[in-house]
Amino acid sequence: MGSAAERNTAINIWTARILPIILSGVIGYATYVTIYLLCVNYLFRRHHDNGFAIPVLVVYFVLFVPMMTSYARLYYTTVVDPPYISLGPAAIRERAYMKEKAKIRSEEDGVGAGEYDLTEGKDDPDSPGLELFYTKDVFVSDIDGKPKWCSHCANWKPDRAHHDSSSGRCIAKMDHFCPWVGGPVGETNFKFFIQFNFWTASYCLTLLIVMGVAIRRQTGLEGESINPHFIAILALASAFFTFTSSMTGNAVVMALKNLTTIEHLVAKSAVHVLAIRKTSYYENRNKRLSSTHGPLQEITYPLAHHTPNRPIFHNARATINIEPDTERHVGSLSNPPSDAATGYNQNSGAVHNGIRTPSPVQHNLVQQRPTTQYSTDRTDNSSSRDLQASRIFVLVKTNPGDNPWALSSPLLNFKTVMGFNIVQWFLPTASPCSVHENSESQFTLGPAVDSLRHEYGFQDEVSY
Ligand SMILES: [Zn+2]
Repeated sequence: MGSAAERNTAINIWTARILPIILSGVIGYATYVTIYLLCVNYLFRRHHDNGFAIPVLVVYFVLFVPMMTSYARLYYTTVVDPPYISLGPAAIRERAYMKEKAKIRSEEDGVGAGEYDLTEGKDDPDSPGLELFYTKDVFVSDIDGKPKWCSHCANWKPDRAHHDSSSGRCIAKMDHFCPWVGGPVGETNFKFFIQFNFWTASYCLTLLIVMGVAIRRQTGLEGESINPHFIAILALASAFFTFTSSMTGNAVVMALKNLTTIEHLVAKSAVHVLAIRKTSYYENRNKRLSSTHGPLQEITYPLAHHTPNRPIFHNARATINIEPDTERHVGSLSNPPSDAATGYNQNSGAVHNGIRTPSPVQHNLVQQRPTTQYSTDRTDNSSSRDLQASRIFVLVKTNPGDNPWALSSPLLNFKTVMGFNIVQWFLPTASPCSVHENSESQFTLGPAVDSLRHEYGFQDEVSY
């Protein structure tokens, strides 16, 4: 990160720390005007009008309490538990250096930020964090079969993460950077963001109506002049209602579609590369692929260690469907392995081999390359345990515009963000989308991936 970028990040973060204070001041002012000036001074003391004042007070607090609670949780989460993805070791060192340099304000000729290798770890087969991807059955990959790499954070990008230049960090399920709430909105705080906007829009609409009625009343009474504070609140409520109601509308639409604002920008044409773990069922049915798909690419995890004379990571070098190098691809189905040669029983293999623990035997079934190559690939670090633990993934492109994470209904999408009962939708309890207990993938996958699996012959054996 250069110094200009670092300055911008600092400005963004400080703006995000100051705006909430201003916002709190505005809410404090609205409370003073509505409760003290309108209800107490004007309605109670001057007109003894309890019939107007009491409903206003009740509605005010019914909206004020959840608005402030959701705001407190939103701000706390954004500042204390932001949806940041960890930095890689090189990025940590680089940022520590930049911080130290800024502190001592020296012009010394030392290691510049540009001299840190932010691709460190990217080509390491044992790169820390890689296992978080290949221990799942499906993950978003780059065209080389590895997860996407952030060259600012020097680390792997989880599915749906996005590098946010405003905060200088990768954000889990990044939606947008919001200075009003203290920073980036993503996985941990999106639910509270929706709730805060919803309650604030309701609160502002109420103030609009109440102040409109109060002003109209003052204009109709002789000897009374319009209280300028009522006009100020009317204007503020109008502006904030316009803003927060449109934010609520947009965010709810995103939740219903299971998209982030960033994903939505390219949603109509987006194509994702998914690494889908190969199953015995897939192997059994691979003939069907030859007619509709080009040669498929596969990658085996844990990654093999590179040896100088033999580039063994052969399946991951080419881009999908671009290099027709059938020697290197499973799915070069013009010459699929015969069941007789492999001893594979089509009737029972799909059931008994299982998809979750592929064995070396399974691996050999569909490999075009010689079966011995597998073991020679790993002479540097081979053991039967490694072979048992290996996981083979096929790289598959989604159809343009398909959202892999859109579930079977908009309501289900909404529930995964907001909670599974109505009370959770309105109160700032923890969001289910921050829970990653799914062993299949980092985020629950929807029908688009089911149909891809079906198309590729994965489907029938997968049961969750
Ligand atoms: Zn990043």
